[in-house]
Amino acid sequence: MIRYIENFPLQHHITFGTPANAKYFFEFTEVGDLQELIQSRPLGEFGPVLVLGGGSNLLFVSDFDGLVIYPNIPGIVPEKEDASHVWVRAGAGVEWDDFVAFSVNKGWGGIENLSLIPGKVGAAPVQNIGAYGQEAADTIESVCGIDLRTGEEWEISAPDCRFAYRNSIFKQELKGKFLVTSVLFKLKKFPQLNLSYDGVARMLEGLAEPTISDVRNVIVDIRRSKLPDPAIIGNAGSFFKNPVVNADLASRLAEIHPGMPQYMVSDPGKVKLSAGWLIDQCGWKGATRGGAGVHERHALVLVNRGEATGKEIYGLSEEIRKSVLERFGVSLEREVLVIGSQGPLE
Ligand SMILES: Cc1cc2nc3c(=O)[nH]c(=O)nc-3n(C[C@H](O)[C@H](O)[C@H](O)COP(=O)(O)OP(=O)(O)OC[C@H]3O[C@@H](n4cnc5c(N)ncnc54)[C@H](O)[C@@H]3O)c2cc1C
Repeated sequence: MIRYIENFPLQHHITFGTPANAKYFFEFTEVGDLQELIQSRPLGEFGPVLVLGGGSNLLFVSDFDGLVIYPNIPGIVPEKEDASHVWVRAGAGVEWDDFVAFSVNKGWGGIENLSLIPGKVGAAPVQNIGAYGQEAADTIESVCGIDLRTGEEWEISAPDCRFAYRNSIFKQELKGKFLVTSVLFKLKKFPQLNLSYDGVARMLEGLAEPTISDVRNVIVDIRRSKLPDPAIIGNAGSFFKNPVVNADLASRLAEIHPGMPQYMVSDPGKVKLSAGWLIDQCGWKGATRGGAGVHERHALVLVNRGEATGKEIYGLSEEIRKSVLERFGVSLEREVLVIGSQGPLE
């Protein structure tokens, strides 16, 4: 029999560790169980619906007045191979970094630079996770999931996923309508290392023939030294995206602030700025508001110093946004999804 839990505490399911309850909570390990739930009762009758992975990109600012679905689908299965590639399917509930470790141990390349990103495999295509010059879209062949309106199973090929920088169809047209159950990855048997990040290349300099395993180790070390561990201090990584602004504004800003980091993007009329730098310049590093704070070393990372509520963290983030807008004329966009009682806030 299909069972859901009422008034479920989410605090230990989200890396910010702030208190929030879900009116209904449904965990499943087999796709058929979700389909059975949908057939027994249209999900809309539960109120708003939210799919939960590892909770590492979510901030709840209130209790959630609907159904949280938690796909805890296990399994890492190599499905086929040819001379140069192997296709591996991973269940939505697999820890992302366990999947990276599995692939690297096999010598299969393409996701090693994404080592230690928190969260589950099911969320990887949603925001097309990326780090150190790689992104999930580079290796995803297709995404399998359930249409939450009908219970129908779909396999969506990579081009139809419309992957972009921290974006995909799952955050756009299919937002709230599709639950990822598994992802098929095409990994390389003879991987070329991606050392486009200076820091990674430098740390591998002493090695004659570095492998993807060396790359993973270096990235794990860099991340551990740089980013706070959510198991120790609640956080959701970068709270804001790096803003991409018009080249005109960027050159005016560079004149006023000569040290401002600026990066080229594929569109020549645009320039990417560092959100962390902008926030730091406004003096936010190490700031505290109630239980909420800005990390001492990372202006881009908001933290729960122990007893913060989601509302406090959100309030702090809005203060930060306002000060950056006032000082630089740049509007920061959140990377973290803020969830109210009826679903994501815009
Ligand atoms: C310390 C730290 C470092 C981080 N570093 C990075 C980084 O380098 N690069 C990066 O890209 N991200 C980074 N993140 C953000 C985060 O890890 C990713 O966004 C991750 O993919 C979120 O996975 P999750 O399982 O926790 O998803 P959740 O936070 O639970 O959910 C995120 C979104 O995905 C949706 N979702 C989750 N699972 C499914 C599913 N099965 N089907 C459909 N929708 C689903 C949710 O509804 C929600 O909209 C970091 C976070 C932390 C805490």
